[in-house]
Amino acid sequence: MIILDGKSIKNQILDNIRLEVIKLKDKPKLVVIQVGDDPASCVYVNQKKKMAEYVGYNFEHINLPESVSEDEVIKIIDKLNEENGVDGILVQMPLPNHLNSKIIQNRIIPSKDVDGLTDINTGKLVHNCASLISCTPKGIVDLLDAYKIEIRGKHAVIVGRSDLVGKPLVNLLLNRDATVSICHSKTKDLSTITKLADILIIAIGKKEFIDESMIKDKSIVIDVGINRVDNKLYGDVKFDTVSKKASYITPVPGGVGPMTIAELAKNVLCAYKINRQ
Ligand code: NAP
Repeated sequence: MIILDGKSIKNQILDNIRLEVIKLKDKPKLVVIQVGDDPASCVYVNQKKKMAEYVGYNFEHINLPESVSEDEVIKIIDKLNEENGVDGILVQMPLPNHLNSKIIQNRIIPSKDVDGLTDINTGKLVHNCASLISCTPKGIVDLLDAYKIEIRGKHAVIVGRSDLVGKPLVNLLLNRDATVSICHSKTKDLSTITKLADILIIAIGKKEFIDESMIKDKSIVIDVGINRVDNKLYGDVKFDTVSKKASYITPVPGGVGPMTIAELAKNVLCAYKINRQ
């Protein structure tokens, strides 16, 4: 069994970007908008700030009070859309219930949408012509590529159909000629389907939900889940037993999470090239 080491691949990607940024005339700039002070969101924003500092991007963190209105958030996004020195705009999710995340997300102009989640960029992904692609799914595909794992012709089973992970991943894998099945909470007899997977990707947010009886021998297992229990992180996969049966597996932490950050770094540079060159 081989561990898919997202952390070391991330470090290689960031080092390459850092070398490219040194040669640029202007520094690319990422702006992260956060509403409220949800502890998990603060951790994620901090990771983005660290990444930006490491590769040499300008970084701005706009932290708005929990009570901010949708109109105020939209005004800020409109201003950033117009600003020449801003390349990437990202709204940290989740937003408080009184804010419509779809409306806010879609207010970002597609060329600065470094999360790849606007309807336009999502549509382009369906048509296989997207430049800015949702970071977690793209990170999964790049991790498979880094280990030279063939995707074409493989049966990929995705568990979880969120707009953030499952749905964009279906298209990315289809664009790479995989045969794709997608499962969710209403799927009947889940393990019959997961056992068919050559590549099994789990993104449901349930601690150690997938055990060794649910996977095929020698399959490739990608665990997207991040479940914090008593200050410790767990994936959606029971790593100890599943890793004995899989041929490749991602750890949690250190697998998909770092790749998500690496893809954000790539998207900011890509947005800079679209907007300024
Ligand atoms: P989400 O929006 O809550 O979606 C969860 C999905 O899992 C839904 O499609 C749901 O089905 C499905 N599901 C829930 N219970 C299930 C079950 N028992 N059997 C089959 N399907 C089930 O979650 P998300 O945003 O995609 O995130 C999923 C996990 O990935 C979370 O732990 C999150 O923290 C993690 N995550 C990690 C990264 C990273 O960088 N590593 C990035 C994003 C997310 P329905 O649609 O039927 O409700």
